[in-house]
Amino acid sequence: MSDELRDLYQEVILDHSKRPRNKRLPENREHLQMAHGDNPLCGDKVQVFVKVEEDRVTDVSFEGDGCAISTASASMMTEALKGKTRAEVESLFQGFHQLLTSPDGVQDPSSLGKLQVFAGVREFPIRVKCATLAWHTLQGALKGSESTVTTE
Ligand code: ZN
Repeated sequence: MSDELRDLYQEVILDHSKRPRNKRLPENREHLQMAHGDNPLCGDKVQVFVKVEEDRVTDVSFEGDGCAISTASASMMTEALKGKTRAEVESLFQGFHQLLTSPDGVQDPSSLGKLQVFAGVREFPIRVKCATLAWHTLQGALKGSESTVTTE
């Protein structure tokens, strides 16, 4: 990865960690599914709220307290998911996970859009859990409401 690209990626992550998007409680509980996520290794805690209507994500938001990476990841996840079907959410999650954990990266990185900025996290294995916490929590929320997900 070039230094220029790395700087750009860090800038985007910093921006989302300082001014997280969709960091709010849901307005009402209609169609709401939620889960808590806990990353004891770093101390990140997140709550993900998702509304799915007719197989599409109509709203997604989060609350919580964590490091810059976990906050930026949750923020960018909420932006990426709105309007997606469950199947699209699943494939995005798989791609994101691959981006962070596979030594060869992702086959089609452009499918991840802005989420590609997390590619650099792969070099810091301890941070991978920070970056994936919101996503694992989302999975929990989609499976059933009020569950707790932990990275340990
Ligand atoms: Zn963290």
